[in-house]
Amino acid sequence: MNKLTILVVEDDRAVRNLITTTLKANEYHFLTAKDGETAVMEASSHNPDVVLLDLGLPDMDGVEVIRKIRSWSNMPIIVISARSEDADKINALDAGADDYLTKPFSVAELLARLRVVKRRLAMMMSDTDSDSPIFINGDLKIDYEAGCAWMGEEELHLTPIEYKLLCLLAKNVGKVLTHRYITRQVWGSSWDNDIASLRVFMASLRKKTAGGRRPGQAEPPQYIQTHVGVGYRMMRMEEENK
Ligand code: CA
Repeated sequence: MNKLTILVVEDDRAVRNLITTTLKANEYHFLTAKDGETAVMEASSHNPDVVLLDLGLPDMDGVEVIRKIRSWSNMPIIVISARSEDADKINALDAGADDYLTKPFSVAELLARLRVVKRRLAMMMSDTDSDSPIFINGDLKIDYEAGCAWMGEEELHLTPIEYKLLCLLAKNVGKVLTHRYITRQVWGSSWDNDIASLRVFMASLRKKTAGGRRPGQAEPPQYIQTHVGVGYRMMRMEEENK
C-alpha cells in the first residue's frame, strides 16, 4: 500500500511540530491546518487518508470539523485533544471520530493508532466483497445469512439482542462505538438513556465471546473491550495482539 497522507489539524505550533516531525521520521506524507475552516477545505481538496484533529481550534470547535467532514466523507479521523472528560470523547465519537488520543500523548501511541488505521484501510481496499456473509476475527466467526456465531468450533448461544449487538460491533471492528450510538442502532432513539440495560446485555455478551485460553497466555483474549463511560469496541485480534 502507498504511503498515507495525513492532515494534521492543530493550532498549537509546538504540538503541530511534534506531530509532523514524527510523521516525517516515519515516512508519512502530511498536510497541516491551523484552524477548522482550513481543515475542512484541505480535507475536501486533498482527500487525505487520515485526519489528526485537535478539538480546541481558534475559529470553531473540532467537533464541528468532524461533522462537516462526515457530511461527505468516511475518511478516518483521530482526535488528539487535551479534553479528557468522557463527555468530550463521547461528543467527538458520536460526531463520527474513529479514535481518541488524550494529550499529552506518546509518539509511540500515535504511531500505533496510525498503524491500526493503515491496516484497516488496506483491508478495506483488498476486501473486494465487503458484503461478505461471513465475518471472521481471530476465533470469532459470524454467518450473517444463517444468523449464527461461533467461537472456534463452538456455536455461541446468543439472545436476539446479543446477536444484534455482536453484529453491530463486528461491522465496526476496531472502532469505539458510544453507548448512545449502540442503543440507537439496536433499540431506536427512545432508548437513548437506557445505558444500564445495555451494560447488562454487554456483560453477558462479553462473557460469551471471551475466547479460549491459548498456551502461553495468562488470560483468554477479550474480543469486546469496555471503554468506561464511553462505549464498547470489538478488538481486531490479529492487530491488537501484535
Ligand atoms: Ca488547540
